[in-house]
Amino acid sequence: MKYYSTNHHAPAASLEDAVVKGLASDRGLFMPEHIDRLPDEFFEKIGTMSFQEIACRVAQAFFGEDIPREELDKIVCDTLSFDCPVVEVEPSIYSLELFHGPTLAFKDVGARFMARLLQYFISRSSDGREVNVLVATSGDTGSAVANGFLGVEGIHVYVLYPKGKVSPIQECQFTTLGKNITAIEVDGVFDDCQRLVKSAFMDAGLCGKMMLTSANSINVARFLPQAFYYFNAYARMKALGQADQLVISVPSGNFGNITAGLFAHRMGLPVKRFIAANNANDIFYQYLLSGVYTPKASRQTIANAMDVGDPSNFARILDLYGADHARITSLISGATYTDPQIAETMKQCHDTTGYTLDPHGACGYRALKEQLRPGETGVFLETAHPAKFKDTVEPIINGEVTIPRRLAAFMEGEKKSVPMSSSFSDFKSYLMSR
Ligand SMILES: *Cc1c(COP(=O)(O)O)cnc(C)c1O
Repeated sequence: MKYYSTNHHAPAASLEDAVVKGLASDRGLFMPEHIDRLPDEFFEKIGTMSFQEIACRVAQAFFGEDIPREELDKIVCDTLSFDCPVVEVEPSIYSLELFHGPTLAFKDVGARFMARLLQYFISRSSDGREVNVLVATSGDTGSAVANGFLGVEGIHVYVLYPKGKVSPIQECQFTTLGKNITAIEVDGVFDDCQRLVKSAFMDAGLCGKMMLTSANSINVARFLPQAFYYFNAYARMKALGQADQLVISVPSGNFGNITAGLFAHRMGLPVKRFIAANNANDIFYQYLLSGVYTPKASRQTIANAMDVGDPSNFARILDLYGADHARITSLISGATYTDPQIAETMKQCHDTTGYTLDPHGACGYRALKEQLRPGETGVFLETAHPAKFKDTVEPIINGEVTIPRRLAAFMEGEKKSVPMSSSFSDFKSYLMSR
């Protein structure tokens, strides 16, 4: 399968090129040349299939032309070493729990898949060079990428994070790993980390010495596998006899997660409609209302993984629907919530149902409460475990959030990081000396 750029000024790329490069040379996002509809038989029996069986079939549609069946099945099954169950929160509202992976957030799925796909390509290449993944993080991306790539042969990951600006729970998830993961503690802010990474990719000296790649969330290998759990959610709801008028609500920031759902829909997944739930960063919401897309500087909220003022995957949504505003609004509606509304929702849900939401999932849940019509069943994506945001969640619900064992285990590990100034020449000489 070839991948074209949403800007249409770059040549079509192979899967390997699209994964290694991340972004097309015209700065557009890669899109698969065709999105195939899955056969009716698949949807008829999906309710009896396991998550891994479903995911292998979906992966076949995207990657089957490029990767032999057996290898692809192995990549998928290794990626999905944990379940993404659907849990009833109250009548007609279900939570698709995406936090059962190693770092307790949905980004584990894409990061684990990308690591294994990259390893597959490296193992077949003749030069046998190590690939170096550089990733700048303000918290969550670093942990998902570091854990996704942990122990994967032929790949070394450098996680750059701003000193003192990442919560201790987040920090321990990439500083205690060792092996092929190096945490770099930058004396600066997140933007400095991002600048160092971007400068490294553009530095001819560095690129001549070592193979550098990014594990950015716009990478097709991180974004497409997220379609797997939409199919699984449908299957589990179908098995419950609740899939006839399914509405899926997605807490959205960069819009990668919901776009994967829209791909699933294009492949025939019978979802009636989607809701994109935003925090106060309401750029997409405003686009749905007005038809005009106006990026803004991001605003800080308690659902901070959704603090995005110019969602990168918007270009993919436009591309999917030929930039037709009417088509987009007929399938997707929006919602936007302030911090007090998010907090109120978490409290209300906790007190009336006993279910603890994280601040991101709370946006998805509330959008269903407000927008679900009679006869419809709603599933919202619970994108992270509330324990990841313990300090925010506990005072709001006035209760304790138990830290799952695998998160506690990170916190007991020994923290190791390389101190770094925010100057590129220091970072460059460090990498050159490796
Ligand atoms: C990254 C993230 C989001 C936003 O997902 P997008 O794909 O960027 O829309 C939502 N919730 C959590 C917990 C996240 O980490």
